[in-house]
Amino acid sequence: MRFGIDIGHNCPPDTGARGIKFEDNLTLDVGSRVISKLKSLGHEVIDCKPVRASNVKDSLSRRCDLANNTKVDLFVSIHFNAFNQQANGTEIYAVGTEGRKAAKPILDEIIKLGFFNRGIKNGSHLFVLRNTKMPAILIESCFIDSRKDMSLFNSEAIANAIVKGLTGELPTRPVIPIPDEEDNIDTTVLRLQRALNRLKITDKDNKILLEDNTIDVQTKQALERFQRIVGVQVTGIIGNTTWAAINQILAKRIIRPNHAGGPVIRYIQYRIGVEIDGVYGTQTEVAVKNFQRQNGLLADGIIGPISWQKLIG
Ligand SMILES: [Zn+2]
Repeated sequence: MRFGIDIGHNCPPDTGARGIKFEDNLTLDVGSRVISKLKSLGHEVIDCKPVRASNVKDSLSRRCDLANNTKVDLFVSIHFNAFNQQANGTEIYAVGTEGRKAAKPILDEIIKLGFFNRGIKNGSHLFVLRNTKMPAILIESCFIDSRKDMSLFNSEAIANAIVKGLTGELPTRPVIPIPDEEDNIDTTVLRLQRALNRLKITDKDNKILLEDNTIDVQTKQALERFQRIVGVQVTGIIGNTTWAAINQILAKRIIRPNHAGGPVIRYIQYRIGVEIDGVYGTQTEVAVKNFQRQNGLLADGIIGPISWQKLIG
């Protein structure tokens, strides 16, 4: 089955509620676990959370577009509630018979953890349920401003309840999200498009790519541009060598002067506008220090976490 998992908010200015804990942190924690677990059970998962959005409506529209374009079988939006510090428990919004049918076993599983059962509710007023074309549900896992709920809350347990409710099974071994991009085995077109956008590699018209999981002319153009920059064979086709280059850059290792680092140095040289030769020499050091100065950082020529953050987020 192909699931569209929508990790609520986490896309400024679309940010979640604040209570005893932050909704953004909890949806990201639970959602990442759900995605890993579904994948390890052999399901296809589309991560519907956009990388950026100009406003809240844009954030919500992008989530729906992605689910619609990739034709997921079920759209699952993960959220947490907040109200008056007294209200507590779990509720799931659904539209139509199929949505309600999908919601029921998830609600049953979460309730088993001790949360109050607030039931399955009509979600026809909710943007992401109205604008997705497949059965869709929105889980309000529990209340982030309720002491009772937050003392019961455990992200692994909630993720397990959601996955068990969705599929009827659980991975035999616990799965944690992959922390290091260098080991990321996701080779979908969607991840490629997201990576190229994050790396600021655009198409021939200098436009960012549509993140729709489909190889189109623009994606090929941007991919060729990337291959030229990092010095791998320019084919417009994504293979192991190109993925290795992408993953090495996204892994954000610390880079120091006199480093001969191939693709990573070549990418940095491209971004700071010096001749691309894959070796961190004097000219590159001057340009890195300028880049750091312009961004208000300590100009030490060492690309550490903060410089990487400025380069690729
Ligand atoms: Zn929310």
